[in-house]
Amino acid sequence: MQKNSFFVILVLSSLLIFSCKSDEKTVLQFEAMNTIMTVQLYGPNAQNAATQVVQKIGDLEKSISSTLPDSYISLLNRPGGQFSKTDEHTFYLLDYAKKMGIATDGALNIALYPVIKEWGFTTGDYKVPSQDKIDELLLHTDFTKINLFEGNQVQIEEGMQLDLGAVGKGYAGDLAVEVLKNLGIKSALLDLGGNIQALGTKSDGSPWKIGVKNPWGGEAVAGLYINNEAVITSGGYERFFDTLDGKRYIHIFDGKTGYPVENDLESVTIISESGLYADSLSTALFVMGFEGAKSFWEKHQDFQMILITKEHKIFYTPLLSDRIFSVDDSIPMFML
Ligand code: ADP
Ligand code: MG
Repeated sequence: MQKNSFFVILVLSSLLIFSCKSDEKTVLQFEAMNTIMTVQLYGPNAQNAATQVVQKIGDLEKSISSTLPDSYISLLNRPGGQFSKTDEHTFYLLDYAKKMGIATDGALNIALYPVIKEWGFTTGDYKVPSQDKIDELLLHTDFTKINLFEGNQVQIEEGMQLDLGAVGKGYAGDLAVEVLKNLGIKSALLDLGGNIQALGTKSDGSPWKIGVKNPWGGEAVAGLYINNEAVITSGGYERFFDTLDGKRYIHIFDGKTGYPVENDLESVTIISESGLYADSLSTALFVMGFEGAKSFWEKHQDFQMILITKEHKIFYTPLLSDRIFSVDDSIPMFML
């Protein structure tokens, strides 16, 4: 008898906690890093926490943007090859991206900005540059020559220009999670322009359920349960241009050719606790193509991934098997 009433009280109190928490859900949508971001937070102080996340991401953008004229990256990108002072975040990202560039054999290359600009991806004024122009611009894309010194000082050679577009949003997710943790938030789902970053579980303790985008449009192609991790996708299906002869050129570049990537992949989704690692890898593994991505994963195995191929097949790493599910029967799923 006593045992029973104890049980009832426990159930009641957990229900109470649940309803309290769900009452304190805050959703905030804002624009940053050239995209729409949404934060969904639970728990006390959520509104204040959301405001602080927006502030943090805004500050990061002011430091690392290639288009804002006063950012540390823009200062570094001025002609002259001079030493430039950066801040802690910019310096950390440059150092990290240089190392990831080496680890991915140049698939991640943050020094492709002049090439990407020439193709018109920064302005929307698209064109296929001449081979001579591409060859000339490729001469200054050796990212191993980004020189990093004490005191957050950086120096790059004349002609080189950097762009942290492939890693910035992932890092923004990590910084946002850090802000939230410091404020005592235990449950949050951030959508930073399609990059998903989860802090903890849903407020009722169950995992977040998210969709992996269908590269051919429409609904999600697969669903995934996640907990305390980032899910970041790179693909060619969102930013591209088509020429009159029907050729498609996308916004992710192969630094070895100076041309947009064209391979057997439609998208790469990386799942990792670190947003920065996931963002770096989603871009780099997309550049590598199916076989390159697969062998990189076999060698490292410190992240999970989902590859969607041009042949309309989905491949996922084995540790995802009990939390990934199919949404679209016409696109079969296979374990890697
Ligand atoms: P998105 O930011 O569109 O979600 P990515 O994380 O893959 O996707 O980043 C793509 C951006 O990174 C491009 O818009 C460009 O600014 C830059 N970029 C393109 N190719 C490369 C590359 N091989 N290495 C590093 N950065 C790249
Ligand atoms: Mg990326």
